[in-house]
Amino acid sequence: MDDKRNQLPVMSRFIIFSVLFLFFIFVTGSVAFVLSMRQIIRLNKGNELSQLLEIERVKLETSVNNEVVIALKMADSPLVKRYFSNPDDLELEKTAIEELVSYQNAFASGIIFWVNDIDKMFYYNDLEPYIMVPENPDNYWYNMTLFETEVYNFNINYNPDLNVTNLWINAPVFAPDGKSIGMLGTGIDITTYIEMINKNLAGRAEIFLFNAVGEITGAKDSVLVAEKQNIEDALNIGSVAILAMAKELAPHETLVLDTSLGRIALGTVPLLEWYSVAIMPDSIDDYKTGMTALFIVVLMVIVVIFIIFNFFISRLLKPLRRSMIDAEEANRAKSAFLANMSHELRTPLNVVIGLTDLILEENTIAKHVSENLHKIGNAGSTLLSIVNDILDFSKIESGNITLMPIEYHLSSLLNDVIALMNTRIAEKPVVFKLNINENLPSRLIGDELRVKQILNNLLSNAFKYTETGTIELTVNCVSANGSGGESKKDVWMEIIVSDTGIGISKENLKKLFTDYYQVQNRISHKIEGTGLGLSITKRLVQFMGGDISIESELGKGTIFHVRIRQEFVDDTSIGSDVVEQLSRFHYADDKRRAGKKLPVRADLSFARVLVVDDMQTNLDVAAGLLRKYKMQVDCVMSGQEAIDLIHLGGTQGEPVFNAIFMDHMMPGMDGIETTDLIRGLGTEYAEKIPIIALTANAIKGTADMFFAHGFQEFLPKPIDITQLDSVVRKWICR
Ligand code: ADP
Repeated sequence: MDDKRNQLPVMSRFIIFSVLFLFFIFVTGSVAFVLSMRQIIRLNKGNELSQLLEIERVKLETSVNNEVVIALKMADSPLVKRYFSNPDDLELEKTAIEELVSYQNAFASGIIFWVNDIDKMFYYNDLEPYIMVPENPDNYWYNMTLFETEVYNFNINYNPDLNVTNLWINAPVFAPDGKSIGMLGTGIDITTYIEMINKNLAGRAEIFLFNAVGEITGAKDSVLVAEKQNIEDALNIGSVAILAMAKELAPHETLVLDTSLGRIALGTVPLLEWYSVAIMPDSIDDYKTGMTALFIVVLMVIVVIFIIFNFFISRLLKPLRRSMIDAEEANRAKSAFLANMSHELRTPLNVVIGLTDLILEENTIAKHVSENLHKIGNAGSTLLSIVNDILDFSKIESGNITLMPIEYHLSSLLNDVIALMNTRIAEKPVVFKLNINENLPSRLIGDELRVKQILNNLLSNAFKYTETGTIELTVNCVSANGSGGESKKDVWMEIIVSDTGIGISKENLKKLFTDYYQVQNRISHKIEGTGLGLSITKRLVQFMGGDISIESELGKGTIFHVRIRQEFVDDTSIGSDVVEQLSRFHYADDKRRAGKKLPVRADLSFARVLVVDDMQTNLDVAAGLLRKYKMQVDCVMSGQEAIDLIHLGGTQGEPVFNAIFMDHMMPGMDGIETTDLIRGLGTEYAEKIPIIALTANAIKGTADMFFAHGFQEFLPKPIDITQLDSVVRKWICR
């Protein structure tokens, strides 16, 4: 189970990365392919269209030319001329018609027509002739051919009955004296011609012909020709001025353009004074090429390579993953071991420190015994701080640390920190200076205990490594707006701790924040410590979104700069009075002798308390400390016994105890379960009685857990007599 949970993120991250990478290759490859293919296709299409137009032009002009040649030959025939001059000569007419029919067979379209200027009879193939009226505007071509044309002309018309468009070749017939005596010609079926071309193009392209005024003269859709639609309107390609561009073309020149319709080519048909346009729209079919097939094959190959590659990588990762999991497990085991160890160490330490304190308070002991007891007490305290460091460090390492932000008073935080340093201040000829400013915010929100821990670590180092000179603590607060602060309410608390101590060499500075690292020198051998203080400090600072830096010179001293993010409550500042009090406090204490300041204990002889702990020595310590208040102390060694006592109450069931001091870790029913059961007993007494947790597990941060389970307070073991005093004052009253 655990195994799976651990390997999943690595593997899934790897798979997600591979899939995304593959997708990226896919997309970029396809886009690049489509773009370059489009470019190639368009280039090819342009060339193809130009060639197409040129071929069709040549074909059209050649066939028109052929017809023109035949028509001119016919117009030049002496027999035809004679017949046109004497239309009434039936003999002549018969032979002339025979000749004309032979010409008719030579025309590709098989169309022939003629009119002579005498009887104006219009002959069309073998249809019945009729009289043609030149004045009719529809017959404009007659006078145009006879009187304005020297060799031949063209005209075009649409026959709605047959739905065909014809290009007519009209040739005047001249008498030997040069007078025009009639006309003849043939028709070319443009509709069929355009149909043929477009059929050959099989929908890939479309060709239009248009004249110099832009009227369509040839199109697949014959309606366009019949209605003489404008080419630009018909094609609807926006602002591209096809007609103007076509007119710019030299004879036989072609021009390729990119338009919204796709690639188009413009060409000319000089013989007819027409223009041509060929359009090849963009189509998905354009991509049905060998190149596309090749591209798909390449993509498939990439996919296969990817799959094989992933397979190999996952196999390679397996042992790596295994060792990562093992390392993580080992690390967890180590952290758990350290946490357990420190818990186990704190319990006997409680006895050592507690009993030492108790004995030291006896006035009857001899001086040398008291001195030795002081040493035992100090050694116990040192051991306790080491154990605390190890516990903290293992918590940080195993990621179990959480910040517990609360609103706190900056002045009381500073007060506590300075108070803790007091014993140190008196030990050596060192001057302690506090630089704070009256404008510092009075209240802040943050993990007060952790901020204290940072300050204590830095200051106790400064005291440890400074024999003479000055130690300075500077605290500033600046708004964190616009400098990485997440909300308007963030402030940076800047802490500077400087000393004139032994300093740290350059090469040692680099290793300073390494876990368990202690600078090896003669002096530090004599100084206690675990080498964890700075590592813990650094991690806590980082946890608070801040940073830490250090400047140091061997023999001259050290300066630590720390910046942590706290939340701002309001504009109230600590004020000059508090600044003065804090400064006075330590100056006064400066001169004080070393040693713990013992609380003046109140007389609480009216009170009766219950202590619950599974270890007799712990009961002795707690009961001893509490009896200093002259109160009656009852001891029991299990949760059940405590419940029974509370349940019974006094003889009348009335309240008996003023408070309960409850050990946390007990075999069987632990302190939390016991408290839950007491609270559930149902009497007002059981509900209200103050219960104070005693715990060797009491690392900063567990307070909330106790409060959530109905405890009023908690006291870490070894019990600190000052802390105990404030708890007693708060909760045991008449
Ligand atoms: P320790 O518990 O040994 O003090 P720290 O992590 O707090 O561990 O410090 C690591 C090392 O850094 C110390 O052993 C000491 O050599 C050096 N050091 C820390 N603070 C100072 C200081 N103010 N002046 C000189 N050396 C210091």
